[in-house]
Amino acid sequence: MKPSYLKIAFLDRDGTIIKDYPDEKWREIKEPEFLKGSIEGLKRLKEMGYDFIIITNQYLINDGIISLNDYQQFTGKFLKKLKEENIDILKIYFCPHNEKDHCHCKKPKQGMIEQAKKDFLIDMNNSIYIGDSHVDYLLAKHFNLTFYRINYNGDNVKSYRSILEISKQIKKIQNK
Ligand SMILES: [Mg+2]
Ligand SMILES: [Zn+2]
Repeated sequence: MKPSYLKIAFLDRDGTIIKDYPDEKWREIKEPEFLKGSIEGLKRLKEMGYDFIIITNQYLINDGIISLNDYQQFTGKFLKKLKEENIDILKIYFCPHNEKDHCHCKKPKQGMIEQAKKDFLIDMNNSIYIGDSHVDYLLAKHFNLTFYRINYNGDNVKSYRSILEISKQIKKIQNK
């Protein structure tokens, strides 16, 4: 039997699925606030056969702004809400390191996606990447993943207002 490769939507978390804040403000944030269109968009991507992997920089942990425990509590609430909406996340990869740690996982470094490729059989040619930052763009480009940006601030990449809008765009391309 041929092994079945997964079509993955790699997703950034903060500023892509849920609201992001200035670093210091994260001390107070205990509940994820889902961005408009993110849950509906994930549902549609799921219908189109995508599985979800989240890759997120969480340097606030090693910067001492949030604790690992804070991160885990928050992640529990985040996953619970998605579960209630029938959205499963295959795995969340997070990098707790800051610049001083010189790790191999902090985006745009490739460690988290390299690890995902070891953990799962991934059809990289048909997988996509959705994120809001330049580091997301750079990482997607490194792996030749089609990149969809939420919002626009900076370089020359077309952007979308929500994951919902992106899911509609992908559907349109598929139907051509
Ligand atoms: Mg982000
Ligand atoms: Zn790291």
